Amino acid sequence: MAVLDEQSLWGSVLAELELSLSGANFQTWFKGKTSILSINNSLVEIGCATPYNKVWLEERYLGKIKEIIDRITGASNTLVFTVSSQNLQPTRAREKLSESRTVPLFEETASTDIQDSLKAANVNQRYSFANFIVGPANQLAYAAAKAVVDAPFERYNPLLIYGGVGVGKTHLLHATASAVLLRRAGARVFYCSSETFTNEMIEAIQRRQTVDFRAKYRGVDFLLIDDIQFIAGRESTQEEFFHTFNHLYSQGKQLVFSCDRNPNELANLQERLKNRFAGGLTVTIDPPDQELREAILIAKAKEANLNLDPSLGRLLAKNLGPSVRDLEGGILRIMAASRLTGRKVDLSLVQTAIGVKTTQNKRSVANFVEEIAAFFSLSPSEIKSPRRSPICAFPRQVAMYLLRREVGLSFKEIATELGGRDHTTAIYAVNKVETLVEKGGEVADLVEDLRKKLFRC
Ligand code: ADP
Ligand code: MG
Repeated sequence: MAVLDEQSLWGSVLAELELSLSGANFQTWFKGKTSILSINNSLVEIGCATPYNKVWLEERYLGKIKEIIDRITGASNTLVFTVSSQNLQPTRAREKLSESRTVPLFEETASTDIQDSLKAANVNQRYSFANFIVGPANQLAYAAAKAVVDAPFERYNPLLIYGGVGVGKTHLLHATASAVLLRRAGARVFYCSSETFTNEMIEAIQRRQTVDFRAKYRGVDFLLIDDIQFIAGRESTQEEFFHTFNHLYSQGKQLVFSCDRNPNELANLQERLKNRFAGGLTVTIDPPDQELREAILIAKAKEANLNLDPSLGRLLAKNLGPSVRDLEGGILRIMAASRLTGRKVDLSLVQTAIGVKTTQNKRSVANFVEEIAAFFSLSPSEIKSPRRSPICAFPRQVAMYLLRREVGLSFKEIATELGGRDHTTAIYAVNKVETLVEKGGEVADLVEDLRKKLFRC
């Protein structure tokens, strides 16, 4: 589609939106801030002026925009939102003037409403879909939670997300609750932990206020209860939970739960509750793999305004504890160490702050090189020697690769460790081995074997 067509299509979409939205919302989120960047095979790319604008549109207006575009184009389109100021229609001077006066006021009003609903729903805004990093370990749970937002009360009801500590269950529950509220103003949403549910129930019984308690929990459209493992074994809580569940379910309301393990493995959970869960969708979140851990670290560092070098991210991902909370704690410690000492975040600061090098400290770099040499039946002096024969050169390149990727040494340090070469030799070697490893096959297997031996994992 030509640029003109994209623009006129977006013009029509805006015209419809202007009719159906409040002036405040239209001015704050759409006017002069959005455009269509491209349309290809029903993939419509929508440009948004700012990241915040993008999240807001994705969370709140995706359904509406899609509906209008689908109707105008007579096709079912997929929408993607991108931060871009391309094609934005310039705002005329007079409009600019009036906007600068009115928008902050509108913005305040629009977000105050939302703030109130989020607060009433007990939602923590720190957790959103936008700042949830997706990888193989959590993509099913993520997709299921998104599907609940897009099409609630239907297929995935109840949705139960289970997994170990710190894998993102609470994050996804909050993200779901807030996305629902952003998308459906006025929806009655409530998030709580099963402990809160239990405590409030006990208090209600003591104060003879069970009617209020029931009205609160049975009067919502979306109920999200976190960590339901705590209700197992508590008979009266399970009883109340079961009836709350049945009531909401029979009214076609959406339920979302989390649990620290598959509910079938909860010995003290009533069978009838297990059956209820089995009637919906149960998905697991696995502990994040190395790649996801690295991605989360880099993202968390960015959130904290820290530009973390990928090689440090990799090193941290290997050395910090298994849960995402450990990764967050690591970033905080590094930030604190950097602030307190006034030093920049580099390898040595990371090592001191995290104790990353504990394994490497015990085993010095020289020791490490020695082990790699031995793996290839070479002596340390052979692996460091300038000999170019493949018998020495290949093991040396592998050693350089491991010193970079696993120990996090700089290219200069690597060159010094391995016979005082130029650092460009180290760059070349690391890239070469990396390419071979990525290809898979013999070299990848060999490096993996060696890595396991070196780190005993
Ligand atoms: P759980 O409820 O499973 O114990 P949480 O949801 O409390 O875990 O997650 C622990 C911390 O890790 C939170 O601060 C959360 O934001 C963060 N976290 C977990 N998984 C992710 C992810 N995939 N992307 C970004 N942050 C994550
Ligand atoms: Mg939790």
